[in-house]
Formats: sequence, C-alpha cells, structure tokens
Amino acid sequence: RNKPESLLEAQNAFSNVKKVIAVVSGKGGVGKSLVTGLLSVLTKRNGHSTAILDADITGPSIPKMFGVHDKAMGTEDGILPVESRTGVKMMSVNLLLENDTDPVIWRGALIAGTVKQFWTDVLWGDVDYMFVDMPPGTGDVPLTVFQSLPVDGIIIVTSPQELVGMIVEKAAKMAKMMNIPVLGLVENMSWISCPDCGKKIFPFGESQTAKVALEEGIPLLAQLPIDPALARECDTGVIELFNEDWMDPVISAVENCPKR
Ligand code: ADP
Repeated sequence: RNKPESLLEAQNAFSNVKKVIAVVSGKGGVGKSLVTGLLSVLTKRNGHSTAILDADITGPSIPKMFGVHDKAMGTEDGILPVESRTGVKMMSVNLLLENDTDPVIWRGALIAGTVKQFWTDVLWGDVDYMFVDMPPGTGDVPLTVFQSLPVDGIIIVTSPQELVGMIVEKAAKMAKMMNIPVLGLVENMSWISCPDCGKKIFPFGESQTAKVALEEGIPLLAQLPIDPALARECDTGVIELFNEDWMDPVISAVENCPKR
C-alpha cells in the first residue's frame, strides 16, 4: 500500500472485517449490484460470514435484491446492519430512508461522508468478506472509498455493449494508483441460452472483454448470461436462491485474494 496506513478510517470496537472487496463498473445498469449480491450469497454459502456495504448511495439496489425491508436500528454504540434470510449483513442508505422511493439528492461530499460512516459507525461484528457495491465510474465517492477503506481487491463488472477498453483501463489505473490489486473481470449479459436447444448465443458477437483482459493482464473470471430467471430472482428479492456455477471462478479469486 503506497500511502500511510493512518489515512485509513478506523472501525469501531464492535467490527472486525477481515477482507474488503470492492465491486466497480464504468457505468450504471451493467449488473454491478447483482454481482456484488451473488458474491456475498456464494461466499456465505461456502461457510464465511459476509457483508455488503452499499456505497451506491444514489442507486441503492442491494436490500431489494434480498427482499430486505426492515430498517436499520441505531444503538448507543452505533448502527446495526440488517441481515438477509441467510445471514448476509448489509448497510444501505435505503435501510435508513423512511421510504424506499425517496430520492437521495445529496452532493458528493455528503455521499462520500455517508459511505465512510457506513464503515466507521456500523456495528458489523465479525465479517470474513465485506463486498462494497461501488458507485459507477471513477468520481470522488470511489476515490474516498479507496482512500479510507482498507480495500484488498477489486472486481470489475462490464457488459459487452460498453467501451470496455477504456473502462477497464481507467479502473486498472485507479487501482494501481491506490496500490490495490484487480482480481479480475466479470462480463455480464454476455450470452443467452437458446430456449429450444440450450446452445449459447452471443448476441454481441465475439467478446471484446476477453481481448482487453489479455492486453491489461487482468483475468476474465466469468461471463454471465442474460437470464430471465435471475432477473426475476433479483426483482422479487430472492437472489439467495441462485443456484448456477457461473460465478465459481470469481468466488475462488475472492477466496484466494491475499489479506492486506
Ligand atoms: P448496476 O448495479 O450495474 O447498476 P444492477 O445489478 O442493479 O446494475 O442490474 C440492473 C438490472 O439488470 C437489474 O434489474 C438486474 O436484475 C438486471 N440484470 C443484471 N444482470 C442480469 C442478468 N445477467 N440477467 C438478467 N437480468 C440482469
């Protein structure tokens, strides 16, 4: 790490988070939250204690995916995270708003401050893996996260329609400046399964992501299909029912990510 450890924000006495993985994307709507959700579900299923810090403050979609409607409760010591059915802990601005549909009309500094507080003031308890659902892009909130949270590794989520080269290069440069390893790429919405014969169809043609991954020396860990069942699981709050092997290499990369 190329900056003094003292710049990192300390957690409270009730939190012991062992590894922090940030999930980033170039723009919104590519499935970053979905991948974050799946990472927490699958590592939890492997026996680890997991948590999600939803730093995508203006587009918080994590609680909905898990069907979590409870509000976060404050105590004398700090805020308690809310737990999903299988015990994934989470904190999101939606768990603090009175109505899920209230817009968050905040300036960057306030958003960045809130994300920092999610790290410092939430009583996370013992957590093996914390996944941070980052706001899209490389603005001041991602920068704050990288400067104030001890991020151990980064997963980049892309979709085939994007200018993948530029996005990956930007994310990789940012990671390098912060001295945080990029664990790999996940290309979402890459293919569909033919409803008649089950054959994989790649509607966007040959993947540019694979080429960029090779050029940047970053592993392309997984290609996820556009899957109506998965979309339904997310929309109805039952992402924990996910039962495919598409994410397995991503889970291995996360579990093998060295501790800071
Ligand atoms: P982001 O966090 O990048 O803004 P989300 O993860 O919220 O994107 O996904 C945007 C929408 O697309 C959600 O409604 C989600 O359910 C849907 N979606 C994402 N990936 C897939 C997929 N592979 N198959 C079907 N639906 C998907």
